[in-house]
Amino acid sequence: MERRYLLRTFGCQMNEHDSERIAGLLTADGYVPTDEAAEAQVVVFNTCAIRENADNRLYGNLGHLRPLKERNPSMRIVVAGCLAQKDAGLIQERAPWVDVVIGTHALAGLLDLLHLADAEGPQMDVREYTEVFPSALPARREVAHHAWVSISVGCDNACTFCIVPLVRGPQRSRPIVDVLAEVRELAGRGVVEITLLGQNVNTFGRDLTAPETARAPLFADLLRAVNDVDGIRRIRFTSPHPHDFTPDVIEAMAESEKVCEHIHFPLQSGSDRVLRAMRRSYRRERYLEWLEAIRSAIPGVAVSTDVIVGFPGETEADLQDTLETVERARFDQAYTFQYSPRPGTRAAQMPDQVAPAVVRERFDRLVALQERISLERSLEQAGRTVEVLVEGADRKGRSTQARTRTNRIVHVAQDLEPGTFAHARIVSAHPHHLMGEVVAVAEPVAV
Ligand code: SF4
Repeated sequence: MERRYLLRTFGCQMNEHDSERIAGLLTADGYVPTDEAAEAQVVVFNTCAIRENADNRLYGNLGHLRPLKERNPSMRIVVAGCLAQKDAGLIQERAPWVDVVIGTHALAGLLDLLHLADAEGPQMDVREYTEVFPSALPARREVAHHAWVSISVGCDNACTFCIVPLVRGPQRSRPIVDVLAEVRELAGRGVVEITLLGQNVNTFGRDLTAPETARAPLFADLLRAVNDVDGIRRIRFTSPHPHDFTPDVIEAMAESEKVCEHIHFPLQSGSDRVLRAMRRSYRRERYLEWLEAIRSAIPGVAVSTDVIVGFPGETEADLQDTLETVERARFDQAYTFQYSPRPGTRAAQMPDQVAPAVVRERFDRLVALQERISLERSLEQAGRTVEVLVEGADRKGRSTQARTRTNRIVHVAQDLEPGTFAHARIVSAHPHHLMGEVVAVAEPVAV
């Protein structure tokens, strides 16, 4: 009988990337995926500690599994990811039917822990140091043309709202030769687009040394080196910290034709007072200057951002500063968040938490402003012909979804294979997507 696994992923791209590895390890051990918990021998929750109520949701999910586990004691339940790293022993205390708690640095040992759980009962590994980068593990990818490539784990910053330094540890960069070897191998298998992944990608290499050059290869060097890999046609990266977006990175982006004209540039707040309380090292005017420098060096670059409203102590005047900054920055897209305390962060301990109703009302104003700007930015695309890369059928199955180099979603009527490059003329614009007509389809790349 086939052994099956069910994998549920919560949170960010880093977790999606890790889930590809969890799936890869289980596939290598002979498991096949299923969507039905009742027929799974292994159920994995790859958790996120950032989303609101993450722990309640996890315990809710674990509670639903309990009767299944009682009926089928050989079923193995695994909790992985950031909550596993943060809450460790607490998880098995609250849900003793969990077999394996595996932290963010320990993924390579998943199969060993499952075998040990068979022999000895519940297991936990929440070590604090990454020895094997998740990217070095086998992967099972949902799409053939795109891949995440992890270049660093952890973060050396200490933003007061963020749990990442606690659960992912200090930054550790992957050796550049390993990154390049993976990118070449992916290109050989037909991957045409890669996203370089790290908590703070643009400090890549600062913790590495290269004796022969007396200088560590830095993020700009990495971009240039990946740009030289045959077969790769699009390079993306996420997420950079504005403070570390140095001129050499801008120059490398501008010079490397495969690096897409899109940058995620997290603002978080437009109020200097709030930025200070968040321990973000830049101030509003500096941020806007950097943005200007990026836009003049890379014509047509699209910019997305993250903005949090309702941070502890935020006043109406602070919010006005944020709204004004958003208006001046004219982001193409913004991921907007209502602040709510995350256990384990410094901000959660701060006095002056803003009442949820006030946070919601401020959030609505921010969203209304950004929706208008996103629509205006989209309308600028109307009538243009742009290169798109097909991702597949859209969620409702009514059109084909593709993406521009600037990370805009374009829906086209024509049925095209995922991974196909085409040119589309933009016929109408919406805040978060465009409608296009295909004017030319490129030949599939021979692998
Ligand atoms: S830079 Fe990003 S990952 Fe690092 S602490 Fe700040 S928000 Fe968290």
